[in-house]
Formats: sequence, C-alpha cells, structure tokens
Amino acid sequence: MLILVINSGSSSLKYQLMDDGNIIAKGIAERIGLRSSFIKHQRTGHDSVIIDYELPEHGTAIRKVLAILTGAEHGVLKSMDEIRAVGHRVLHGGEKFAGSYLVTPEVIEAIRDCIPLGPLHNPANLAGIEACQKVMPGIPQVAVFDTAFHQTMPPEAYMYAVPYEYYRNYGVRRYGFHGTSHKFVAERAAVLLNRPFDELKIITCHLGNGSSIAAVKNGKCYDTSMGMTPLAGVPMGTRSGDIDPAIIKYLMDSDPELTIENIDFILNKKSGVLGISGVSSDFRDLCAEAEKGNERAQLALNMFSYSCRKYIGAYAAALGGVDAVVFTAGIGENTPSVRSQSVRNLAFMGIEIDEKKNVEVPRGAEMDISLERSAARILVIPTNEELAIANETRRISENLK
Ligand code: ADP
Repeated sequence: MLILVINSGSSSLKYQLMDDGNIIAKGIAERIGLRSSFIKHQRTGHDSVIIDYELPEHGTAIRKVLAILTGAEHGVLKSMDEIRAVGHRVLHGGEKFAGSYLVTPEVIEAIRDCIPLGPLHNPANLAGIEACQKVMPGIPQVAVFDTAFHQTMPPEAYMYAVPYEYYRNYGVRRYGFHGTSHKFVAERAAVLLNRPFDELKIITCHLGNGSSIAAVKNGKCYDTSMGMTPLAGVPMGTRSGDIDPAIIKYLMDSDPELTIENIDFILNKKSGVLGISGVSSDFRDLCAEAEKGNERAQLALNMFSYSCRKYIGAYAAALGGVDAVVFTAGIGENTPSVRSQSVRNLAFMGIEIDEKKNVEVPRGAEMDISLERSAARILVIPTNEELAIANETRRISENLK
C-alpha cells in the first residue's frame, strides 16, 4: 500500500513515498515562497536530481512533487491515484490530540486552534495538508502529531508551578515533542527485549539537532524533557534547554539593547552547544575540535552529556526503575562519547555500558551496547519518524469504509 509522508515546514516540504515500509522515492522542496526554489528528488536506487521550479507556495510545491512522482523522467507512479493515503507530520496538537487522526474540517479547525502553541510550525503543517487536499481530492489525509504520545503524562509531570489560571486560560503546561520518535524506538526496544511493551520501563533519548528524553512506563509516556515549547530540557544544537527563568529579566536589565524578541532568538538560535563552544551546533565539529584541545568544545560536550545523565537518573526515579535506556537520532545513533558519558557512573542503578560495543555500532544498526551483567539494557535504535507516520497513516486509512 503506497503512502505519501509529508513534513511541511515554513519554506520547505519533505516527502517520502513508502510501500509497506520501503522507501520508493523521497525528496525535499526547498525555498518555497523565496527566490531560487527547487526540488531535490531521489528514486530509490538512483542518484538524486535537483530540479529548479518557481514554488511561490506549498500548493505549487505539492503539485510539482506529484508531477515528478508520476512523470516519465524521474517518476515511480503511473497516476497519483495509486497513493492510498497521505500522512502529515504536525508539530502541536495541544490537549486536543492524543493520537493520529483522519483529517476532517473539525481536525483542521483544531490544528488551527493550536497555532498559538506552535506559531512557526502549525501554519506550515496546515499549508501542507490544505495543499494536498486541494491537489489530491478524495485521497485520505492523516495528521500525526509530535505531541500526541506525551498526552498520557500525569498532571504532576505536565503542570508548571505557575498560577493555575495560566493552565486553564492559556494552556500553559508541558506538552513534549518528538513523540512519534519516542514511541517508535520504545516499541522497538520492547521487540528487541522480547517483552511486552506494556510491562516495561524505558528511557528514550532522542538526541539530534533538537533533543529530548522521555520516560515511558507500561507503554505510555510518563514524563518528557521538552516543555510547552521545544526550547526546554537538555541543551541542544542551538537551543538553551532548561535555564533559570530569572536570567531573562536579568539580561534585559543588564543590556538595554536586548528586547524580549532578541532573547527569544538567542535562546533558540544562538545558545546550546553552539553558544557554549562558539564553534558549531554540529556534534561532528564539536568532537573534532575537542579532540584538538578546544576546551569550550569539550565543555559543550560535557554539559550536554551531563544534562542527559541527570534526566536519565531523574526518569529512573520517576519510573521506579529502568529496563532499557535507548539512544536514537543523529547524535544518539552516531556519537559514542555522548552515549558513554550519558550513562557514566550509573552502575549503582543497574545501567552499565560495554565501552567496546559502544564504539562498534554499525551505522544505521540496532544494537545492545550494555554489559552482560547490566540489569538495564542500553540500546542504540535508529529512529524512523517517516516510517512511524506511514504506519499510523496506513492503520487509520485501512479502517476507512
Ligand atoms: P534533526 O533534529 O534535525 O532531525 P538529526 O537527528 O539528523 O537532527 O541530528 C543531527 C545531529 O546529529 C547533527 O547536528 C550532528 O551533530 C549529529 N550527527 C549526525 N551524524 C553524526 C555522526 N556521524 N557523528 C557524530 N554526530 C553526528
């Protein structure tokens, strides 16, 4: 069954055409609404091609993508009717969505209602959905939310200690993100452990440009490190993660040039390991610099891993034990030093890494990197959010009619 997965950003639109989990073709439309826009397209087994198009808005981008997919030169389909359903990644579902949903006018309205919570992403996600509805009428569209998996958190985990009215009136609470990835790797962990998902305590560390950690108990999310927005939790490539909120007023008092917009920009785009190292947000660069003796690059790496370790410890306490710690995403899958430092000195709670196995994980492979005697398994599991979205989309569209 062919499923098209769409991840629509403000000026880009990523797509993957999948057939029962296998990628048939994928690509990205970039610089939508800007000059020199183009589509980079790749059929599985072929080199990628870059095709220049004028892409003034998402609707045109989708039309061009479908034209490529069905075209003689780089196409893989006879007609777009072969696509059974389209799955869309949507950032913020607020408290309205605890699962994936077939897109209806009500669902569109509810996604629109969540725009204040996801002001950058939700409008772009909606643009992708509405463009597909227009260009592919009659083909079911499914919305898969980054926040949905975290909706099972108990109130003590999701509430902030600010006046209760802010929760009631404005929805101020922890929502969490990367839910599709946390759920995907936690489920895979259960398969690898050969134990029922709903009987396990799992800590999932999604460490990429954006990073978040989740505590998963008996198949449900119990707590997660990102908050009302994706700025909270561990330090990230360019995001600060948790800081003392009083720092914001202190900085504004100290530097009259700083506006709240500047600070918001700095905390999102100029902080994290980039802000500390002054070198890069990319862990490959940081590792190379640290190797050469750059102390600030080393400090950034140390801070990142230390923060991960604190969350792992906190979530082991929250869960009352831990059966598995999972590392995933760009850094989690590819940076042994981060994995090693994130579980350093946790033998006292049954988490013991095999340092030899840790440096031997083949790219893209699932692997158990814990010592035989470790009470908890430490697993590297590549995430695959597109596959997870395709699976959700298939599940929902199969139940139609
Ligand atoms: P995103 O959140 O954008 O999906 P990714 O999960 O792709 O991010 O993670 C991107 C980060 O992963 C990069 O910035 C880089 O720091 C890290 N990374 C990717 N590949 C490697 C690698 N081979 N070695 C070390 N770090 C890597």
